[in-house]
Amino acid sequence: MTAMTDGFGRRIEYLRVSVTDKCNLRCVYCMPLEGLDWLRRDEILTYEEIAGVVSVMAPLGLRKVRFTGGEPLVRRDLAELVRMTAAVDGIEDISLSTNAVLLEAQADELREAGVNRVNISLDSLQPERVDAIARRPDSFQKIMAGLDAAERVGFDPIKINVVLIRGQNDDEIHELARITRERPWHVRFIELMPTGSNLDLSRDAYLSCTEALERVREVDALEPVGGPTGNGPAAYYRFPGAAGSIGVITPMSHNFCDRCNRMRLTADGHLRPCLFGDIQTNLREPLRAGEDLRPLIEETLRIKPERHDLVQGSASGSGGLVALSQTGG
Ligand code: SAM
Ligand code: SF4
Repeated sequence: MTAMTDGFGRRIEYLRVSVTDKCNLRCVYCMPLEGLDWLRRDEILTYEEIAGVVSVMAPLGLRKVRFTGGEPLVRRDLAELVRMTAAVDGIEDISLSTNAVLLEAQADELREAGVNRVNISLDSLQPERVDAIARRPDSFQKIMAGLDAAERVGFDPIKINVVLIRGQNDDEIHELARITRERPWHVRFIELMPTGSNLDLSRDAYLSCTEALERVREVDALEPVGGPTGNGPAAYYRFPGAAGSIGVITPMSHNFCDRCNRMRLTADGHLRPCLFGDIQTNLREPLRAGEDLRPLIEETLRIKPERHDLVQGSASGSGGLVALSQTGG
């Protein structure tokens, strides 16, 4: 095992950092309506601490950092963290996963601070549906304003994440795919994953990406393409001559763990080698005690599991996660 290569030969150059467990939405597949037991302020890593972890990982081969949550834009002055991260030697790419509700107001500053690209969650093109899935009024309008701002400031690529929910948005698969003909967006269909708070929904409303692709092919032929920057676990296709592409993320139907290039840092400072499962290393206490993090990071990498073990209808594979917002998705 060389620096930042795990026990299965996968090179890890990508860290997803959850900056908060809180969110301004309550998406039906993600967060319970009543919220979660929020972390206390002193449990959450400061920006200096996050930048400190990135600084230890960069010489080991870390190149890309994504900020996520919860909703990263609800944390105050995220642009400051972006600036601190961009200043770390070796970091080449900074991106953001957001619901875009607050993006209109922050897009300029985030772009200037060093965010190159964004993933935006948008599960439907119908305002009342988006509001119903997000369980917050007026979400659609704000998300659209955020998307416009993302284009205006030049985030590139722009990826649109659509969680497939049978009975709630699967009749829009054609329409969502068609957008990529005109707009240079990368629309990615994601299979609904089971967590402790969505077991009924994830069992009853699950739809595979194989089925979604069959429906997309009713619109037109698809050709496989390499995909935009940072393609990670997604596989991409394109309509002939289209401006954008269509991606599928298949955690349930096709395991993609052999291509995994990432680790995760939770808002409370746990390094997780896999989105699911219960392996995690507490970096916060050693960090606050001034200890060397490098051996802990290397050991976490060494025990990165070969694959996740999600089981439909069961919370066991997710390692006790109540919601994906707890680890950043
Ligand atoms: N709040 C931001 C957002 O919504 O993009 C970032 C965090 S969110 C947890 C990251 C991604 O996880 C989103 O694209 C969201 O749709 C997806 N997600 C959340 N829960 C999911 C689930 N149970 N199954 C599949 N995708 C899920
Ligand atoms: Fe919030 Fe993102 Fe989870 Fe929706 S998917 S509740 S926007 S963290």
